[in-house]
Amino acid sequence: MDTSLLIGDAFEAGQERAEKVLNPRTGALILEVPEASTSQVDRAVAAARRAFDGWSRTTPAERSAALLRIADRIEAEAEGFAALEALNCGKPINAARGDELPAVVDCFRFFAGAVRCLQGAVAGEYLAGHTSMIRRDAVGVVASIAPWNYPLMMMAWKLCPAVAGGNAVVFKPSEQTPLTALKLAHILAEELPSGVVNVIPGRGETVGNYLINHPGVDMISLTGDVATGKKMLDAAAKSVKRTHLELGGKAPVVVFDDADVSAVVEGIRAFGFYNAGQDCTAACRIYAGRKVYDTLVADLSAAVSTIRLGNADDTTNEIGPLISPRQRDRVASFVERAREQSHIEVTAGGALLGNEGFYYKPTVIAGARQEDEIVRREVFGPVVSVTPFSDVDQAVAWANDSDYGLASSVWTRDVGRAMSTAARLRYGCTWINTHFMLTNEMPHGGLKQSGYGKDMSSYALEDYTVVRHVMVKHG
Ligand code: NAD
Repeated sequence: MDTSLLIGDAFEAGQERAEKVLNPRTGALILEVPEASTSQVDRAVAAARRAFDGWSRTTPAERSAALLRIADRIEAEAEGFAALEALNCGKPINAARGDELPAVVDCFRFFAGAVRCLQGAVAGEYLAGHTSMIRRDAVGVVASIAPWNYPLMMMAWKLCPAVAGGNAVVFKPSEQTPLTALKLAHILAEELPSGVVNVIPGRGETVGNYLINHPGVDMISLTGDVATGKKMLDAAAKSVKRTHLELGGKAPVVVFDDADVSAVVEGIRAFGFYNAGQDCTAACRIYAGRKVYDTLVADLSAAVSTIRLGNADDTTNEIGPLISPRQRDRVASFVERAREQSHIEVTAGGALLGNEGFYYKPTVIAGARQEDEIVRREVFGPVVSVTPFSDVDQAVAWANDSDYGLASSVWTRDVGRAMSTAARLRYGCTWINTHFMLTNEMPHGGLKQSGYGKDMSSYALEDYTVVRHVMVKHG
């Protein structure tokens, strides 16, 4: 495939070191993608700056039309995108085709509609003899940096509100998963004016670092690790760039004694392990009421052992391998350290799977305590911990006792308990009797070290635009 980067409306080869892109299912090399040089980043930022003036003055209807055309083109090529995403990430083709591509297409369509419906404050005479009005204008050039877990979907979440809002973007995919971004670049080049989106692959410490420190960039948008987010803030502080940070998560799942245990088991089996747990909202930190704890551990461990992965016929797989040997080894080391503690029991999985590829067995860790590393740190793999709690205050305190604040869920048959618990949780999202369900109309984003700013929904459009006041003196 073409591994060229996109600068303005031209495709050219990256001028720096080639990065190896591996097939996580086998470990084999798929291809090498040369990364952008600093002068190529300079030219990408310059192309975005040139594009910004014209693009920011187009009407919402014009930007909407472009997004709708892109959505149609992705939909027409959905099979190719899904196959490429499955190849690069190791995710089952059914997940890429059935879940992720439709969500990507819908994201473009949602923002195409949302940008035509922004609401605002009422214009009027707040000072006698003067009329005030509020504008919502584009920020400028956005440096947009994406992770490897849902490469195309994260690209859509980041590009759509930025482009709909009238910004120009320099987009850097993860060095591990650049393939669908490079493919989408060809559609973007045909459907958008030159320079509105530029795509420059490369490593974080080289291309990413140079980009976020670039004086021509007005805003940095990252989906990634907390440590990477802190680097964005350091870079942003130097020239007071705006920032939008979607960072890690460690989602608590509070299961009360009256919960429907089979629904909980089914939910955690699905939402704790989807994408091999490489998901910032993964249902990974379970707190169970004491009456339900033993049944939940037994049923969940049995259910998790039936998750299908590593089969030669990929259409039968529910999850794939981890993205890299490094990520697999990181996951394995978390489980090994947990296993060394006498109060912990690994009741499912807890081992590598096979000799080929980067697989790790879906794992349940029972008896975990609040202070344990496995409860406190993001594993980002197919591992869930279960901890018993005594009462609602303890459950809420433990759930909130985390550096993270992205997603959470509460499971109970009692509506009042569900609502009062949800109100006390310090998370960007709380699901009740489900987990993980996202829709483009609703915001996704964190509190605490999970970052700030919203993806999806009209709140994302607000994040990628600035409020301005225009005042007219009468006569
Ligand atoms: P990462 O932070 O290692 O990398 C994310 C991106 O940042 C990559 O493109 C990388 O090249 C780039 N990067 C790394 N160092 C950089 C630097 N110094 N300067 C500029 N760019 C740099 O994260 P990852 O390992 O790709 O993804 C996993 C993390 O992402 C997890 O912590 C996960 O929770 C988080 N995540 C969060 C959300 C969310 O919506 N909150 C969604 C998906 C993933």
